[in-house]
Formats: sequence, structure tokens, C-alpha cells
Amino acid sequence: METSTNTTERQDPKHILKKYFGYDAFRPMQEEIISHVLDGGDALVLMPTGGGKSLCFQIPALAMPGVCIVISPLIALMKDQVDTLKSHGISAAALNSSYSSAHENEIINACQKGEIKLLYLSPEKAVTLSSSWWQSLQVNLIAIDEAHCISSWGHDFRPEYTQLKWLKKQLPNVPILALTATAENTTRKDIVKQLELPEPKIFVSSFNRPNLSLAVRTGLSPKERREEILNFLRTQGDAAGIIYCLSRKNTEDVRSFLNSHGIAAAAYHAGLSSDERSRIQGEFITDKTPVVCATIAFGMGIDKSNVRFVIHYNLPKNMEGYYQEIGRAGRDGLPSKTILFYSYPDVQRLLSFIHDGANEEINLEKLKWIQSYSESNICRRRILLSYFGENLQENCGNCDVCANPPKLEEGTTTAQMALSAIVRMGQKANLTQVVQVLRGNSPADIREKNWHQIKTFGVGRNISSGNWNRYLMQLLQLALLEMVYDENYALRVTTAGWDVLKGNQTVQFTIPEYQKIIVTKTDPEEKPAKLTKEAQFRAEMKAKRKEVAASEDVPAYVVFSDKTLEELLVVKPITLEAWETITGISQFKAEKYAHHFIDIIKRYRPKPRSGPGTHMETLRYFKEGKTIEEIAQLRELSIGTIIVHLERCINEGESVDLTALVKESLLADVLLACEVTQQKAQLRPLFDTLEEKYSYDELRLAMIQLKRDEKLNHIPDYNQEWVERLEQERLQKQIEKQRTS
Ligand code: ADP
Ligand code: ZN
Repeated sequence: METSTNTTERQDPKHILKKYFGYDAFRPMQEEIISHVLDGGDALVLMPTGGGKSLCFQIPALAMPGVCIVISPLIALMKDQVDTLKSHGISAAALNSSYSSAHENEIINACQKGEIKLLYLSPEKAVTLSSSWWQSLQVNLIAIDEAHCISSWGHDFRPEYTQLKWLKKQLPNVPILALTATAENTTRKDIVKQLELPEPKIFVSSFNRPNLSLAVRTGLSPKERREEILNFLRTQGDAAGIIYCLSRKNTEDVRSFLNSHGIAAAAYHAGLSSDERSRIQGEFITDKTPVVCATIAFGMGIDKSNVRFVIHYNLPKNMEGYYQEIGRAGRDGLPSKTILFYSYPDVQRLLSFIHDGANEEINLEKLKWIQSYSESNICRRRILLSYFGENLQENCGNCDVCANPPKLEEGTTTAQMALSAIVRMGQKANLTQVVQVLRGNSPADIREKNWHQIKTFGVGRNISSGNWNRYLMQLLQLALLEMVYDENYALRVTTAGWDVLKGNQTVQFTIPEYQKIIVTKTDPEEKPAKLTKEAQFRAEMKAKRKEVAASEDVPAYVVFSDKTLEELLVVKPITLEAWETITGISQFKAEKYAHHFIDIIKRYRPKPRSGPGTHMETLRYFKEGKTIEEIAQLRELSIGTIIVHLERCINEGESVDLTALVKESLLADVLLACEVTQQKAQLRPLFDTLEEKYSYDELRLAMIQLKRDEKLNHIPDYNQEWVERLEQERLQKQIEKQRTS
């Protein structure tokens, strides 16, 4: 059942957080944002991907009467969010150009009747809806998701967004909440300006995502990169991840390489039909295809919370893009890995794009940042965050540099070789050419310039080209070399470089030992180790989640996130109440899903303790008001055992009131049977005498009660004679029964 709580009362945000989303506490900023919106204020929210932006409008939407309109540019994302909301028991719908008009009318009517709490609209749709339509609804809030799309400064400008300022004019009293994960300052200011919000409050949360590990691998050839990726994937089980590539061809190369090694990967790029693209996206979301090799177009519309790794096969063109792309990993807050492959040919490729495009100067600057990030010898997170104006006081401990601070090696002679070659080539060679000459390679362009004749030709053939790339990069970083962009990226020796060449200055290179630690090679032929009990438990729970998700046609993480899954594995709840204590499990979800999983969990729960004290645990539950049946289920014990526990408690002087459980008629019958059988020790004679009218459990309860009331004092413990007679009769009956049948 979906709810639509259109009462006039405003509800407590915290209560809603728990009731609908199953969370106990707000994340930083969420509460302030929500209360600001509830007070009717406009706001701009800057929060990293996975920071929890959605709740900032979903909770006010539920707290207030009326409907919240959410403008979102991505149709796939809308569907995902609507599915997620429905999975929490919240009525939500989406309108976009892909729906039939009949379906559209249905939704519009439902909104007008107040049956929908959140309506998602594409910006195109939002601006085509008439003002009378807007007026006919009780709009409580307008949320503009991906608000950076309004700015031409941003990396994803959408012209339709610029028309949205119309909304504030149309509905001046409805608060507007713009949300984005873009941290960049210019875009930030532009959003406010473009939306023409009079006095918006700006909320900026930290952009640190400590659960993402950061690593950069430098100077590997494409082939080496693919092998690294393969080795890495072999350590990842069936985890989902994205491999970003610069071109269609790269995506296809990586995909076919992985496929040929038995990894289910798909390629995703603009050259595919839109059907094919949405199929790939769908299969990624539902974990059918765990790995997607994609151009940057992929992932924008994906809310998938269990992306466990993001790899950049090629260098992204700026920090904003890089940050956004790695941000698609680990939205559920669990540790997730990111790896960036940094190579000089990529830098060159990006440089040529930049020269051919607009805003050359800005883009060159941006490229330099991502380069120095990649080349950095200090904590990467510090550099990343400093780019977004945030100052991390300490090294993060979760990046490759922190994991293995680089050691230094003496490099003066090596540096001199390179600098000398560069000078001898007239300072006209680019990095690739310098490496070729140092290594003694002479393709046509080298011969044409006669560089194969210079004295330093081949002096560095003992050093791999990867290492030469790395050394030259460091010379650039140390400002001993500079790059002349507009002269075919020629390397030129700086004044400081001349000092080294003349022997007045020494050079130290960093040894990138940390490059080795990211992946541990596994032998593909190696038999998979036997699953540990825990791994088996996890696998069963995951399989069940997948099955349940498939039956509802939603992605697995909509049923519950990996984080919730991990908590379930630890807590092992088997009652609804216990399920509701799990992060991300609301009462609605517990009721809807728990029963699918409880049987599995029961098999992995430690067997209940039996021994001293266990009857007291039963008593505790009993005093909490649980029925005997409930206690038995909770403790995974038989009802009989629970009754024995209670009896023991009574014997030990605890007050246990069973009156409500034992009917007077039962007591009377049992008392009579005790008198007839002349004993009070054995239940079977009573059971038979009463002709199986009551269960053993009922008899036992009655006996406890009768003993407590001292009604059995005149009856002996055991009447041998009677029991024997009874046994005889029973046998007789059995024989007769067999004869007749
Ligand atoms: P964003 O839109 O900022 O990328 P989401 O709104 O999708 O992030 O939230 C990311 C994840 O964090 C979701 O799985 C969401 O349910 C979870 N989340 C959000 N707020 C909380 C909270 N207060 N406590 C626990 N989890 C939360
Ligand atoms: Zn670090």
C-alpha cells in the first residue's frame, strides 16, 4: 500500500526519516536544509554525489500537505528515483515526453486529487505545462535537481533549464530548492543568478568522500593498462564498476579484451542506438552486466548505490569531471575503489581537443590541475579537495600516496641525459619524440629531422619508455622543463634546467613504488577457494535480494542497499522489530521484504545458548509482553521449552503470571484428570484421559498454574498402577485399530 498523507498538519522530519527511509539520524546539513525549506526559504544545496541530496526535498515533500515537483534532466534517473520512493511506500510519479497522453492525464489527475507526494518532471515538460495547471495543484516545494545544468559555465549545460526562472515568478510563495554536486565556484554563483532567486540560502557541504580510495597509475601502455584492469577485476568478485574511456574505440577495446578473458563487460558510447544504451544501462543497474566500459556519457542518469569501483582508463579533462565520475562509486558509503591511469599520450590528445575548442585558456588551466593531481607526491585527497576550496588538515590515509609515500632516488645523471637530448634537438621535440631519441628509436619523423644523428641518440635505451615518461613528467613538475603548447608541445629547458645541465644543481626523482600495491595478481587458473560461511551467507542473501528485485522489476539496491545488506549480515535479525532497527529499513520495508530473508538468516544465526540463565532471557521477553509463541520464534526454541523456562522461573521465585494463558475450563479438566489418574508427574496419562482434547503445552501450562495454586497437594507424584493400566488400554486400542484397517 502506498501512502499519501495529505493531512494539513506538518510532520516531524526526523519521524519521517525513520518511518519512510529507516534512518535514525540526518547527515550533516540535511536537517538545516530541510528546516529552512519548511520555513518557506529558497536554497541552493551543494553536496557531493552520494551526500544525500534527495532526502532534502523528499522529506519536506512528505512533511507538508501538497505535492513536491522535482525537475530532473535525466529520464532514467527519474524512473530510478520514483521506483525507490515507491519501494519506501511513498506515492511518486514522473512525467516526461516518453509517456502517452492518456498516462499523462492519469498522473495529472492524481496530482490534482492530492494522491501524489512527489512528481518528477523533465525541464522540457515543466515549461510546457500551463500556468493554470501549476495553479491547480497544491505545490509545496519545487526541487531543481542537477541545478548546474542551468549554467553555461558548468560541464553539462541544458538550455531548457534557463527557462526555469519562470517558476519563481509563477509561484512566488513556493520555496525552490536547487541542488547540485558541482562544487566549482563560478558555476555556483551562476546558478543563483540564472534562477533569479531573491535571497537563497546557500548550503555547501564537505566534498570529501572518505570511503572512496584514490589511486593513480602512471605511464602504462594501453596493453599494460588493460592487464592491470583485468587483474584488478579478478580481485573484485561480482562487484559492479565503471571504466571510463576517452573514445568509443577505447571502450570497445577494453570491453573485448575483458570479454575475451571471461568478464561480463559492456561498451557504452554515443555511437549506440538509444535502445541499446538504455538496455546496457538497465543491465548494469540490475547487476546483469557488472562492468561497463563507457565514455563520459554514462552514469549521469544512474543512481546505482553499489558501484564498487570507477576506473579511468584515460585521463579526464578536468578535476570537475574526474570528481563527478569517481563520485559514482560508493554512494552507499561502503569502501569503494577508484583508479586513474595517467599517461602522456592522453595529455597530448586532450591538449589537441582543447586547442580545437572554445575557452582554450580556461581548459588548459583545468588540464594542468588534473595533471598535477596525477603527478602529485602528496596526499591526493588534499589536492582534490583543495581544488574545490576545501582544506584537509591531515593526510587522508586512503590514497596511493598515503599508503606508500614515495621514496626518492638520485636522478641527476638521468635528468642530464634528457635535458641534453632536448637541447641537441633544438628544443623542438615533444615528449614522445624525446623518449624515442633517448631510447634509440628512429621512426620517419625522427630521421626526417636528423635527430638519429645526435650524440645522445640511444643513451637511455636501458630505461623503459614508461620510466622515461615518468622522469620527463617529473622534470616538468620540478619546473626544469616547460612545455610550449603552441609549438607542437615542444619541451624546452628552463633556467633551473640549465643549472642541472651545467652540474650546478642536483635532481631527485620519486620512485613510484606505490604503483605496485593496488592490485595483487591472482592466477586465473586457480580454483576459487571454498566460500567461508560468511561469504556463503552474503551470497545467499544477495541472490535472494536479486530474485525479489527481479520480481518487482527494480534494481537490487532499491530493495535495500549494500550497506543495509552488510548490517543485516552482522545483526541477523529475524523479527520485524529487529529488522526495523537496521539502517535503511523502514517499517514498510520490513513488512514488505523481511519474510523473504528470515529463513536464510535463521540458518546462519548462532544456535541459541542453552544453559544457565537462558530461562531468564525467556522471562525478559515474557515480561515485555511477548506471547509464548513469539518468544519461541524469537529464540528459535520450541513452545514446550519456553514453558519449561517459565516454570523454572516460577520455581526460582520469579513472579510469572500465566493466568491470562490458562482458561478456567482447562484448569478444571486437568485437575479432574489428575484425580482420575491419581498422579501429577506425567503428562501422557492426562493427555490420554482427556482424550487429546488439549495439547501437551496447554497441559503443562495448566499444571504449572495448579501447582502454584497448591491445588495438587493431595495427589501423589506418580501412580504406577494407573499408568500401567492406561498403557495397556492404549495398546489394546492400537491393536484394534490395526485390525480394522
Ligand atoms: P545524492 O542525490 O546526493 O547523490 P542520495 O540522495 O542518492 O545522494 O543519497 C545517497 C545514499 O545515501 C542513498 O542511498 C540514501 O538513501 C542514503 N542516505 C541519505 N541520507 C541518509 C541518512 N540521513 N542516513 C543514512 N543514509 C542516508
Ligand atoms: Zn591521502
